Amino acid sequence: MSLDQPTSIAPPALRKPQGEWAVPPNLRDYDDARRTFTWTDAARALDGSPGGGRNIAHEAVDRHAASARAGQDALRFLHRDGRRTALTYAALARATRKFAHVLTGLGVPAGSTVFVLADRIPELYVAALGTLRHGSVFSPLFSAFGPEPIRSRVTLGEGRVLVTTVALYKAKVMAQRAELPSLEHVLLVGTPEEVAALPGTHDLRALLAAAPDHPVLAPTTADSLALLHFTSGTTGRPKGAMHVHGAIVAHLATGRLALDLQDGDVFWCTADPGWVTGTSYGIIAPLAAGVTCLVDEGDFEPERWYRLLAQERVTVWYTAPTAIRLLVRAGAELARAHDLSALRFVASVGEPLNADAVVWGQEAFGQPIHDNWWQTETGGIMIANYRAMDVRPGSMGKPLPGVDAAIVERTNDEQVRVLDAPDAQGELALRAGWPSMFRGYLHDEERYRRCFADGWYLTGDLARRDADGYFWFVGRADDVIKSSGHLIGPFEVESTLLEHPAVAEAAVIGVPDPVAGELVKAYVVAKPGQAADDALAATIRGFARQRFGAAVAPKSITFVPRLPRTRSGKILRRLLKARELGLPEGDLSTLEEPAPPPAGGEHTP
Ligand code: AMP
Repeated sequence: MSLDQPTSIAPPALRKPQGEWAVPPNLRDYDDARRTFTWTDAARALDGSPGGGRNIAHEAVDRHAASARAGQDALRFLHRDGRRTALTYAALARATRKFAHVLTGLGVPAGSTVFVLADRIPELYVAALGTLRHGSVFSPLFSAFGPEPIRSRVTLGEGRVLVTTVALYKAKVMAQRAELPSLEHVLLVGTPEEVAALPGTHDLRALLAAAPDHPVLAPTTADSLALLHFTSGTTGRPKGAMHVHGAIVAHLATGRLALDLQDGDVFWCTADPGWVTGTSYGIIAPLAAGVTCLVDEGDFEPERWYRLLAQERVTVWYTAPTAIRLLVRAGAELARAHDLSALRFVASVGEPLNADAVVWGQEAFGQPIHDNWWQTETGGIMIANYRAMDVRPGSMGKPLPGVDAAIVERTNDEQVRVLDAPDAQGELALRAGWPSMFRGYLHDEERYRRCFADGWYLTGDLARRDADGYFWFVGRADDVIKSSGHLIGPFEVESTLLEHPAVAEAAVIGVPDPVAGELVKAYVVAKPGQAADDALAATIRGFARQRFGAAVAPKSITFVPRLPRTRSGKILRRLLKARELGLPEGDLSTLEEPAPPPAGGEHTP
């Protein structure tokens, strides 16, 4: 880890108005909020389950269904076919009770893992909250995943139930069902005829229609497991980050303080619930705050997105850098051609947001884009640019009230040194103990333990803090790849590439891309006798896409005669990356033997 001082000069801050606000922000004075905030107070904004304890479904749904909000839209769906439907808080309470009764009726014990593999259809949301109500653990699978990531996650998570659609089941699960012995129940969304033609499955809509809807709520506590989110590391299989029902205290607090959610808001989080943002902020936080949450089933398209923002009178919008960069390309005039006067707050997460994109927000929406930072393990927003705080373009902002962040250097396995000097670069660390902190990696206690030292959680990100307390993202401390906001573990991709009969060795890195942030690139050593040519590259790319889905598969493949490795045999991905980018190669003392620079053709689709 380099501790060099940064040489860049911060762009000028974007000042926020100090006078009267038409709609006053929830957090008006950052320093004051930091002084007064406590998590105990934050928890008081919630009810607690009727019999005691804590359950996300109660706080996010039942609490509102029993109030004047019962008839308000909780979830408003814009379907792919153009239909617009909604579930009020009362209807969502009823549907999620039915889902819990369906699980009980099938004999599913509380504490089971329920995987959901679906596009953003109402059943996904009903299944997520119904699972929590039942006391089981919700684990989302990104619907664009291919069969391989689905199999590894369902296997690791010992999924007992899978909720999916007929089309996704047929394309991605059916052929490997025998390899998923834990899976006892597959609940399908489709027509009765389609479902009947698929042995070993149930018709979810028929089961829901027949289920009772009387109140039901599992006696979970704040420490009961609620969510299982898979994330990627540099080595090994995906890691299952475990989250508890008590996390909702942080979901609500961050929804209010970092996203400024207020009564009457129409909130749109563009993230898919297949990833943590789409669950924490596409389901739980907005419902906990009692606002109307918009769900768009369609894909990104600038004109359509602006139309949607205007027509739905979206007040708070939470999106991602890749989408923002594409909107910048489409031009600020396109934004200004729509009536976005309802839009009070725009925020972004998931990857570094370049300073010019932050400033561009001013031109397009009359406000900067507010970057914030968090990760699967933190469960919720940890560092943010707040509505009432001056924005330093390119900075992630300041830690949430109630969260202590620092820049540290690990001195050994157990200890860290906090680097107090302004702009010192080191690993971003958070003082352990906020409510949405993950409680373990599934079946990997040792790996979890290694994330903590001296009471700090070490995030794996490199950052610096300036003299005024703003945090700046520097890069990852490891080799994981962020492509279009999706975290991709190189090892997972490499292991599957090795299953191709022509591949002897593979190394995967992220290469910079102006829109996606990074693109997945593979270096491949072909087996002896294989012609390392365009045709083979295309075949391997096709194989990878079929196994992984387009979001994870390498976009380009370069054949090399051998891979640079350390003497202990670890692939030196950093060296491949340095060579790819023409950067200094750094310390090569652990290199097994000098590896030649990449040879052979570049093969891009
Ligand atoms: P995930 O666990 O998939 O949500 O990915 C978390 C990782 O995404 C973080 O550890 C960062 O590396 C990156 N990330 C998230 N938000 C930001 C941000 N605002 N700026 C820079 N990187 C970010």
